Amino acid sequence: MTRTVYVNGQYLPEHEATVSIFDRGFLMADGVYEVTSVLDGKLIDFEGHIKRLHRSLSELDMPRPCSDEDLLAMHRELVRLNSIDQGMIYLQVTRGNPGDRSFVFPAADLAPTIVAFTQDIPNLADAPAAKTGFRVISIPDLRWSRRDIKTVQLLYPSMGKMAAKKAGVDDSWFVEDGTVTEGTSNNAYIVKGNRIITRQLTSDILHGITRAAVLRFAAEAQFEVEERPFTIEEAQNADEAFSTAASIFVMPVVEIDGKPVGSGKPGPVAIRLRELYLDEMRKAAV
Ligand code: PLP
Repeated sequence: MTRTVYVNGQYLPEHEATVSIFDRGFLMADGVYEVTSVLDGKLIDFEGHIKRLHRSLSELDMPRPCSDEDLLAMHRELVRLNSIDQGMIYLQVTRGNPGDRSFVFPAADLAPTIVAFTQDIPNLADAPAAKTGFRVISIPDLRWSRRDIKTVQLLYPSMGKMAAKKAGVDDSWFVEDGTVTEGTSNNAYIVKGNRIITRQLTSDILHGITRAAVLRFAAEAQFEVEERPFTIEEAQNADEAFSTAASIFVMPVVEIDGKPVGSGKPGPVAIRLRELYLDEMRKAAV
């Protein structure tokens, strides 16, 4: 089946969808994005993703592209047109096409470019990787210092994924000034006894939508939550480690820089939080 994608108000077969070479997303990485997962044909935490989209746009002085209702209707239409049961919807909003290249922002009334497409992943909730866990390496965090804005500047995270691939593992965790910031495309956690430790929200990391929900469910399930930085050594010696993102939900991390974490197998806390997250979010999906 040819995928139907969305570009600036139109639903088109993917090979007919185009964006200008002058689009600032293409030339300057001047754009923001969101990835919302789909389970049972419904959107997971759509409200959270839209709130963060607004924040990213506002931090970059970009106007809202359309109403939240229109965005929701568009996401649902893409799910319907592409018959998605489990998968992801990628949404990108750029500052648009000023018709030429310039470092200066175009006039604020320039129409933004809005692009969205689906990714069909039939076993998203039941991913085999969740049963074995991720193995990660640590690499320096060389990204810019506004990681709280979800921009399309993904070159360094992409290089981080390639470093992991080269090392024969699943992901890289970034380290800055001796402590872990986050994974290439996920937030990072360790578990010690009944306590879940993850870096506090600043501009050092993306404010994960999955993170917010997982920490809420963890607190409700009587876990202690401590928001502070941790080192790779502390993580290697923790009982468990895990990562969260819309694309992986809660993913156990079983090895860091070649050293097993805990038993070297997915731990009970990560497994429980994954189940809790999937159960609760499926109930609340729209
Ligand atoms: N941190 C980074 C750098 C990310 O790219 C992502 C997701 O893409 C996350 C964290 C997790 O965010 P969310 O839970 O909203 O998917």
